[in-house]
Amino acid sequence: MEIKQLREEVLTANLELVTRNLIISTWGNVSGYDPESKLVAIKASGVEYKNMKAEHMVVVDLEGDVVEGKYHPSTDTITHLMLYRAYGAEGICGVVHTHSQYATIWAQSGMDIPCYGTTHADYYHGDIPTTRLMTDAEINGEYEKNTGDIILETMRGRNCHSTSAVLVHSHGPFAWGKTPAEAVLHAQVLEYVAKMAWSNYVMSGGTCRLIQQALADKHYNRKFGPDSYYGQ
Ligand SMILES: [Zn+2]
Repeated sequence: MEIKQLREEVLTANLELVTRNLIISTWGNVSGYDPESKLVAIKASGVEYKNMKAEHMVVVDLEGDVVEGKYHPSTDTITHLMLYRAYGAEGICGVVHTHSQYATIWAQSGMDIPCYGTTHADYYHGDIPTTRLMTDAEINGEYEKNTGDIILETMRGRNCHSTSAVLVHSHGPFAWGKTPAEAVLHAQVLEYVAKMAWSNYVMSGGTCRLIQQALADKHYNRKFGPDSYYGQ
């Protein structure tokens, strides 16, 4: 893929965060990864969305060194790079970070989002996990790298396609997908199911029953399983 195209895709995906009500102000960022060149385009740090152009998408290598662009990349860049280092070979080429409201409420509660229904199961197979708390040493050390580490620690034993988001405790969600656009979709679905799950949790006093496992398996697998048959 040409770098120009990657930057355009990442710009479009960043602007979609506003269109889909997933962010306010300059919060949040989307990046895209090109597995051929092993380069990543990511939003520059602190740029207002209304003035955002392709030139605000900074191109870095997997070590975080700027290859193209005159701006500083997002402060969360290293967290994104760690996800590409871990999952790029498995086809993950888009990462999103937001502070979308309901997903962040679960993150602040330190709770995994339970799967209560098929809306959730259509995109996420199982709960959406929240990380453990970071230690003071992790916070005061290489914070963004340690955020990446804690996400990967939480993902241990999970599949990066069927669990395509993690909530960072007391902070907010990171979501990913095969493209920057798909990562944004996953962040949007996450917010939608987070809101519904919160409502179910509160209205039932925490006693809402989980979806039946057979139903969760059916809905996830008919879209994404080896014998998927949903869609055209
Ligand atoms: Zn954040």
